[in-house]
Amino acid sequence: MTSPSCEERLARLIRAVGPIPIAQFMAEANGAYYASRDPLGAAGDFVTAPEISQMFGELIGLWLADLWQQAGEEPACYVELGPGRGTLAADATRAMRAVGLQPAVHFVETSPALRAAQAERFANAAWHDDLSTLPAGKPLLLVANEFFDALPIRQFVRTVNGWRERMVAHGPDGFVPVPGEVPVDALVPDRLRDAPAGSILESAPMGTAIARDVAGRIAEQGGAAIIIDYGYAGRAAGDTFQAVHAHAYADPFARPGTRDLTAHVDFSAIRQAGEAEGVRVHGPVGQGAWLEAIGIGARTAALSRGSPTRAEEIEAARHRLTDASEMGELFKVMAFVAPGWPEPAGFGAPPA
Ligand code: SAH
Repeated sequence: MTSPSCEERLARLIRAVGPIPIAQFMAEANGAYYASRDPLGAAGDFVTAPEISQMFGELIGLWLADLWQQAGEEPACYVELGPGRGTLAADATRAMRAVGLQPAVHFVETSPALRAAQAERFANAAWHDDLSTLPAGKPLLLVANEFFDALPIRQFVRTVNGWRERMVAHGPDGFVPVPGEVPVDALVPDRLRDAPAGSILESAPMGTAIARDVAGRIAEQGGAAIIIDYGYAGRAAGDTFQAVHAHAYADPFARPGTRDLTAHVDFSAIRQAGEAEGVRVHGPVGQGAWLEAIGIGARTAALSRGSPTRAEEIEAARHRLTDASEMGELFKVMAFVAPGWPEPAGFGAPPA
């Protein structure tokens, strides 16, 4: 007997218990989606920065290695959250080795399919289901690229009767969002209490908890984290829940488990999580500005000198990673740095 699809399981669950929170729908759908496939690359659903060019992972590796060198070169661990195919980790650790840093490699990854892809590149890495089993006592050099956007969010919707959690129901037309029955006005900031009916507010409790965990470990163990994602720096962005399928936006409520569900990352919440745990928080700055500040221009020139026939392709990759019309502004970069560790490159002058 074949096991029921994610879609069937969710429909049955909703028939049994009634509408479920968006966070639960998103967690189940993404769990099934990532467990079964490699969604990255031209043949998949989306392309990420490390898959565009080796320069992305190399520059991240050198950025971390620079901090590590200035901090005194203690033995450290490279940790990546949601490493995908392992491309970023391969480029980053190769660049680190070139400057004398050979960290133990730890991956936090829930997808069996992607763990298998990572193991092809990293026979000796250690895999973790979550952050709780990461090593203690050593500085962490941590990377999370397009990880936080895949974590489940909650949504709240203003109805004529006040704020309600946005839930997912199932009917003849498939899965549809509906307001829940329980008033949740107490969860909404005062200034939004009387927002127009239909207004939507998001929160990312799992992302915030993971950001706190990352920051707490770095504050205690030393090290730094670099978080890159599409998102916003202010507050209250409205509805950013979306599906990406075959490189196009799709209905996030249709066909759960077959498409990537994401939400924009609230960097102000990640900043607060970092500050609450005692790390120094830098950014967010645009991915384009950050990559230019840490030397993508010089790296582009060096690679092009090495392979003149590929010069155009290398310049096109730089454009895609940095230009405001491409990934340069929508994608943002935020860093956590341990107390006592040096100022990181790429975020402008340190405060006076
Ligand atoms: N960082 C990679 C892949 C981004 S896709 C890149 O830039 O190419 C999101 C990654 O996060 C995948 O590896 C996915 O399996 C993983 N992931 C999603 N939710 C997760 C969770 N709750 N815990 C651990 N990994 C998760």
